[in-house]
Amino acid sequence: MKKIPFISKQQIEEIVKTYPTPFHIYDEKGIRENVKALQEAFSWNQGYREYFAVKATPNPFLIKILNEYGCGCDCSSETELMLSEAMGITGDNIMFSSNDTPRKEFVLADRLGATINLDDFTHIDFLEETLGALPKKLSLRYNPGGIFKISNGIMDNPGDAKYGLTTEQLIEGYRVLKEKGVEIFGMHAFLASNTVTNEYYPTLAKQLFETAVRVKKETGVSIDFINLSGGIGIPYNPDQEPNDIRLIGAKVKEVYDEILVPAGMGDVAIYTELGRFMMGPYGHLITQVIHEKHTHKEYVGCDACAVNLMRPAMYGAYHHITVLGKEDEPCDHKYDVTGSLCENNDKFAIDRMLPEICIGDYLAIHDTGAHGYSMGYNYNGKLRSAELLLKEDGSVQLIRRAETPQDYFATFDCFPEYASLFQKGDL
Ligand SMILES: *Cc1c(COP(=O)(O)O)cnc(C)c1O
Repeated sequence: MKKIPFISKQQIEEIVKTYPTPFHIYDEKGIRENVKALQEAFSWNQGYREYFAVKATPNPFLIKILNEYGCGCDCSSETELMLSEAMGITGDNIMFSSNDTPRKEFVLADRLGATINLDDFTHIDFLEETLGALPKKLSLRYNPGGIFKISNGIMDNPGDAKYGLTTEQLIEGYRVLKEKGVEIFGMHAFLASNTVTNEYYPTLAKQLFETAVRVKKETGVSIDFINLSGGIGIPYNPDQEPNDIRLIGAKVKEVYDEILVPAGMGDVAIYTELGRFMMGPYGHLITQVIHEKHTHKEYVGCDACAVNLMRPAMYGAYHHITVLGKEDEPCDHKYDVTGSLCENNDKFAIDRMLPEICIGDYLAIHDTGAHGYSMGYNYNGKLRSAELLLKEDGSVQLIRRAETPQDYFATFDCFPEYASLFQKGDL
């Protein structure tokens, strides 16, 4: 499918008068349409709730939009919990799906009334010790091991993943939780990431539903909610067919009706913790070309770099690039599109066929709405960019300012001899 940016060159030329490149910009209209479609796809399930994976895009202005449609927050750290609390999203509206969790994060999650999803059998005792007593509601994260297959092949390798409890630990875990007075039980699993197939959720659901039936038979524990977690992907590459969320919802219902309903478990709530699917396609990283370089290869150098979008450098991930204003020109030039880090993996694209690029052109790097800004870092002393929201009415709102050198140096603020680095106006 041809990938069309949600913003035009004309709009960007206006925006840069106020907010210089690089920046991430998000499409409010796209976010709203997508979350509505998700809610509809699972509306057959009474207790359905999406907990947005905050780590994907930890911006309160964006999470607020999802929250209008009933989405909660899936948190995995202290700061994500703090962000959620600051937005007024607390209690049952927080899922705390962490791993290798520090004690104080469990304490904060519990204080906020979050639903805690334990990543390991030993965390039952760790949590009890930490809190004095276990919460009334607890969830366990399942990892069946082996490889995770769907009809057309292997999706992922849970046997290699650090997360979750084995089948034996899971069953024993529910027994122990019940003994210790837990009353509301959840089951969670995340077995494959960025799946671009309508089969992932239904296959995962079947496995979890069957396990829930087994847990009930063997321990008497009746699971109250099943959390299918994240993993529904997006078509980063134009060759990929997007997931059909309505079909995914309908297929999960089929296995629900086939396995849970006959077992007398037709009241189990379905939860999701999607990140990428909720935001990924609705963000672009906008960057301006500032250099051309003709050496052993043809390079174009941008004012963004891997600190603004790490996925290409980290995973060799494909992110589509549109040269704004040249949408209909032939892609007859081959470029490496680079940033300025002193790392040769700082390339947004390698040997990419694009229209002829000139200095000053604006590039829209697609699908940066999730795991984009949030994976940012400060290597080479580079600063994180601003985040902007393209509103439904076409106006643009700053939803996070760009970092300044003072932000970068802020953690030297206890050393008076370096005061000049973090005092505003001194630079
Ligand atoms: C990262 C993560 C998610 C979200 O994953 P996506 O691939 O962005 O959908 C959900 N749950 C947990 C526990 C995660 O670690």
